[in-house]
Amino acid sequence: AVFSCKPYDKRTLNKAVETSSDLELVYFESRLSMETVSLAEGFDGVSCFVNDDLCREVINQLAAYNIRAIAMRCAGYNNVDLYCAKAHNIPVFHVPDYSPTSVAEHAVALIMALNRKTHRAYHRVKEGNFALEGLMGFNLEGKTVGCIGTGRIGAAFCRIMNGFGCNILCYDISENPDLQTLGAEYVDLATLYKESDIISLHCPLNASTHHLINDQSIAQMKEGVMIINTSRGALVNAQQAIDGLYQGKIGYLGLDVYEQEGAIFFEDMSDHIIHDSVFQLLLTFPNVIVTGHQGYFTDTALEHIAQTTLDNLKQMQNT
Ligand code: NAD
Repeated sequence: AVFSCKPYDKRTLNKAVETSSDLELVYFESRLSMETVSLAEGFDGVSCFVNDDLCREVINQLAAYNIRAIAMRCAGYNNVDLYCAKAHNIPVFHVPDYSPTSVAEHAVALIMALNRKTHRAYHRVKEGNFALEGLMGFNLEGKTVGCIGTGRIGAAFCRIMNGFGCNILCYDISENPDLQTLGAEYVDLATLYKESDIISLHCPLNASTHHLINDQSIAQMKEGVMIINTSRGALVNAQQAIDGLYQGKIGYLGLDVYEQEGAIFFEDMSDHIIHDSVFQLLLTFPNVIVTGHQGYFTDTALEHIAQTTLDNLKQMQNT
């Protein structure tokens, strides 16, 4: 039996268990932390998500309960003390590659919503106001789209935007040969900033990409540029993006991720993010849309995550 923490994906997991596994999954609504770890006693493994706290103390306790595997239902595992898990010989599994299309499509959804101002239009119509003032959009066809990071998600994004008839400019530290057939052109960052009408971020967060979008990069961009971030919050310096919005340099901003979003994943969102003044300021702009890290959240991605997690847990059964 496996202890599974706060699953958003219970239905998908149940379906996968029914069709392909003799594991018994028991769900707990609380996230795993030092306060809740005693619930894991008596289980063979734990299945966790980005919001669980698998720190050293928790893993020591899991080891004391003879937990034989930690199966993360996500790609990242920076919330797991891997060193401690290794010391206890507890394998940590994750799902490295699930439906890049899901995140790419969400980036496109943000572009479409910002461009056609769907969020504002919907609110107007609900109030019985069918006026179109301020809702004029632009055609995507013929626009230049800059994609920073052309791995799995970035490449899927480029393919979709190519379908809209956009010119695609790419920047990556290593070129993806699959994109050649699209006629996507690799350029340096300065050219991408200068030429792009829409810039979408699909690179990982690391020392060289932290606050990639800042005063200096924004200054190089087109007047009224649209910036989309579905990757990691800290790629964008939010305060400097706000300055760009005030100046009109940034015309549209779509964020699925936010620098302080760790807080969103933890129990009391209101205590953290709601009191984050920069985040609050972002929400006041009509040309900004923020979503809560839902890029991955589709049926296809969840099915893949569930199946891979069960396959990973089966390895535990075999040991
Ligand atoms: P990937 O590893 O397939 O691709 C990342 C690409 O970024 C690679 O081609 C790499 O060479 C490139 N890169 C690395 N450093 C760079 C730099 N300094 N400048 C430009 N490019 C650089 O990863 P992926 O699966 O496409 O995921 C991309 C990002 O999407 C992840 O890092 C993650 O942060 C984010 N993500 C978001 C969600 C969501 O729900 N919003 C879900 C999954 C992943």
